[in-house]
Amino acid sequence: MPATATDPTQEMLRRAEELANDLELQAVRRWKEHNPDGLAIGYLPIYAPRPLLEALNCLPVAVFGGGDQLDIIRGDSYFQSYICHIPRSVIELGLTGRLDVLDGMIFPSICDVIRNLGGMWKLLFPDRYAAYLDLPQNFDPAVGGRFYASELRRIAVDLEERGARPLSSERLAQAIDEENIRRAVLEQLAELRRHEPWRLKASEAYLLVRAGSALTAVEHTRLLRDFLDAAHERPVRPLDNVRVLVQGSFCEQPPLGLIRSLEIAGCDIVEDDLQLGMHMIEGPVEIRAGEDGIDALARAFLEQGVDTASRYIADDTKGRSLIERARACRVDGVVFSAASFCDPALLDQPMQEKALERAGIPYTSFKFSENTGQFHVIREQAGAFSDAVKLWGAQAP
Ligand code: SF4
Repeated sequence: MPATATDPTQEMLRRAEELANDLELQAVRRWKEHNPDGLAIGYLPIYAPRPLLEALNCLPVAVFGGGDQLDIIRGDSYFQSYICHIPRSVIELGLTGRLDVLDGMIFPSICDVIRNLGGMWKLLFPDRYAAYLDLPQNFDPAVGGRFYASELRRIAVDLEERGARPLSSERLAQAIDEENIRRAVLEQLAELRRHEPWRLKASEAYLLVRAGSALTAVEHTRLLRDFLDAAHERPVRPLDNVRVLVQGSFCEQPPLGLIRSLEIAGCDIVEDDLQLGMHMIEGPVEIRAGEDGIDALARAFLEQGVDTASRYIADDTKGRSLIERARACRVDGVVFSAASFCDPALLDQPMQEKALERAGIPYTSFKFSENTGQFHVIREQAGAFSDAVKLWGAQAP
């Protein structure tokens, strides 16, 4: 997208990129200056109940590791070589003081690596608050729902004991409402990309979503709305690209250069599972009669949580929701892009590939690490895939 003096979206994207690359957490430091009584709480992928934290006057901060901007000097020595990259860079961020501004960390139970990282964090930083958030894998409200609500209450009490604002049902309801509005605006952003991918590229949408990692729901919503208002006036030219869905990048994030390489290779990424935590709950969270806000958050996780590799799906067919999303977004093909050694993503992938084969949807796959620096091979592979899809459609490999 060429920058023009009359295109205000360029300045918004510049600000979003600055926020997305904010490894020093300057935005968090500013928030704490304005909220001296507030706490900043980091959380690892995929998902944490952001409205609960906001209701406690805690700023939820999504921690995605160091990406391709951080040299790992000491982090490597804490983990074996045959696991993904994100735990090393999180430890590196911690050891270099970049996460000192955080008053606590939440480690959701998405895989063994995050569990081990949580343990390592507690050993290294015993004085800081660290919570392991056990997400339910039983979706009976009387079992998993009750359990998850008690987990959320435990974390709320822990944070109150460390100085967070006491939880009130009014403020929690308000925070849930604010998150619902953000979620609706994020859906508008996704819609724009699905309908006019040349008006909003995936790499740009990625930055706009990532910018919200350390913003309150209200601030993030304002940024997104400003962008959406201006996006309709952008000088754009439709491109003859193939429409693809990127799958498998729900936790460790690929470098932005990789997403841009797919675009350069002729792929319009119209759907993905990048930064899945922001989209983990489908639709608004509603507080029903007889529930409090925590009950509603727990129920929403059970009933409205999206399908992902780290979520147990009982008797459902692996790949069913992927096919549904692919069809709903009218994609020409699927690109599996998983972090190297990501067990949840790579264990699911063969079953998802089988489902795509049954549905006649072409796919290709590669692996990345957050600090991958060479995209030439991936660009060539994606270019060959997009050419094949254009030429042969569902016949393509
Ligand atoms: S990238 Fe995969 S294996 Fe690594 S922490 Fe995330 S979910 Fe776990």
